[in-house]
Amino acid sequence: MSTFEKLEIPKDGEIISKKNGVLSVPDQPIVPVIEGDGIGRDIMKATRRVIDKAVEKAYDAQKKIVWFDIYAGERANEEYGEWLPQDTLKAIPLFHAALKGPLTTPVGGGFRSLNVSLRQQLDLYACVRPVRHFEGVVTPVQKPGDMDVVIFRENTEDVYAGIEWQQGTDEAKKVINFLKEMGIEIREDSGVGVKPISVTGTKRIVRMAIQHAIDHNRESVTMVHKGNIMKYTEGAFRDWGYELAQEEFTEQVIAESDLWEQHDGEIPEGKVVIKDRIADSMLQQILTRTSEYDVIVTPNLNGDYLSDACAAQVGGIGMAPGANIGDEAALFEATHGTAPKYADQDVANPSSLILSAVMMLEYIGWQKAADLVITGIEESILQKRVTYDLERLMEDATKLHTSEFASAIIENF
Ligand code: NAP
Repeated sequence: MSTFEKLEIPKDGEIISKKNGVLSVPDQPIVPVIEGDGIGRDIMKATRRVIDKAVEKAYDAQKKIVWFDIYAGERANEEYGEWLPQDTLKAIPLFHAALKGPLTTPVGGGFRSLNVSLRQQLDLYACVRPVRHFEGVVTPVQKPGDMDVVIFRENTEDVYAGIEWQQGTDEAKKVINFLKEMGIEIREDSGVGVKPISVTGTKRIVRMAIQHAIDHNRESVTMVHKGNIMKYTEGAFRDWGYELAQEEFTEQVIAESDLWEQHDGEIPEGKVVIKDRIADSMLQQILTRTSEYDVIVTPNLNGDYLSDACAAQVGGIGMAPGANIGDEAALFEATHGTAPKYADQDVANPSSLILSAVMMLEYIGWQKAADLVITGIEESILQKRVTYDLERLMEDATKLHTSEFASAIIENF
């Protein structure tokens, strides 16, 4: 077992192990947890209480999560004098699944976001965002209930790889001159960025998305790309995706084109439909033909836009959970930030973090506890007992503190 500089592994828990990609989960698994900054403190307290109660109830107190506090952000700076200590980077892959609250991105000093650093250093290549509507939450559309998608956004490549040169620098000039040698003229006063998309990066995320669709009896996987314009990056993403589907899932999938040619549009029993859409058209269709979409897989930038557009359609990111998943580790986290003006006031909505923890329960196979929490949230919202952000949009709702909302969820299991 790894040794840590400052962390003490809890003695009353056991490690989750992973062999050939399969998790083995003990009854008292140790789960590292980064509390987070700002409202992180309030929403993490609420989340741990809700999850502990759900697990206790679902398994008659035979199972229990043993939380293991690890540090990043402001707390890490206090404990270690650095924002993202090695202890944290070691603990997450060692225990395979971890929960995280929002973190402040230190301003100035050339800091990159801690979230981006965590994703890159742990190779958490898939940003997974399930988006659905909770009845009662006010939304800008007429039929928000049609939305029930899981978005797999590639996390490590595309224009997010951070390869760019500022206009006017020697490096930018060098790249522009190199491109000139390649027969490509671009304006001398350009800043330049590079958009890499690889076979490896594409196939591993498409594999994860298709496997998810199969495991969860989903109807389709849609690849969203801008391949009509960017043929060798976005277009290749689509081509490699279809290739992967054929190579590894030939018995379990059917391409949308074959569906019409061979089956009159009827999905054969047990098959997942693989289709693709161009990104701009997809942003229309997710609004106008919402129910036709199910699992979605897409390069980084499209995924960024699409995740927030989908979340907005069902009532905002306050309710949207997320996870960053790689082959060795998975980090479950709220999708919003630290909302510093609400820090330590016990008012923030903990739903995004609680639902991220639900994804974690599902990831470790504790579905019964996950279902209890979902019921608790659904009922509390139907009763209009909600935090300020939802209350201000509802009629005749009761405004609850973060901790009271957690209690309402528990009452409603
Ligand atoms: P933010 O923290 O997400 O807050 C923006 C606004 O969203 C809040 O003022 C509030 O709106 C609403 N909000 C967010 N979370 C909420 C919750 N749980 N309950 C109710 N309302 C909520 O975004 P930001 O102000 O741009 O960023 C603040 C800090 O967070 C920055 O340091 C940023 O780098 C960091 N950040 C971290 C993450 C992460 O760790 N994953 C993500 C994004 C940002 P109202 O004022 O309208 O009520």
